[in-house]
Amino acid sequence: MLDDLYQSLILDHSAKPRNFGPLAEASHQADGYNPLCGDRITVHVRVDGETIEGITFVGSGCAISKASASLMTESVRGKSVPQAEALFAVFRSLVMGDESVKPPPAADALSLGKLEALSGVKGFPMRVKCATLAWHTLQAALARQAAPVKTE
Ligand code: ZN
Repeated sequence: MLDDLYQSLILDHSAKPRNFGPLAEASHQADGYNPLCGDRITVHVRVDGETIEGITFVGSGCAISKASASLMTESVRGKSVPQAEALFAVFRSLVMGDESVKPPPAADALSLGKLEALSGVKGFPMRVKCATLAWHTLQAALARQAAPVKTE
């Protein structure tokens, strides 16, 4: 049953991505590319102080990459930059199936919530790249990294 729920959440977010499009007064942005699958993404972020006030993305790719980007924008909006980075660490350990990764202290009060829906990619290394592309791109945007992110 849980699998069905996760499946429909992914389908819903890939068919109707949230926060899809340009972002007014973006302060940070970066491009990401996953050559294994052909997923492309641009993440736009507006940071005010330490808070991620606004985040959108544009791009094209498979259902997993789009759903993951959509869920990511919902998850990190309103959070601080360290919280977003902590959430990525927890999410990455979920999708990589690596239980040994200890969540950073800033992750204490964070819950993965809907991001759990992507736990199904665990064990499929190619899909893991699809699921983490948006997050790596967010990280690059926040670090003001000029070169596009590649998963390879
Ligand atoms: Zn993909």
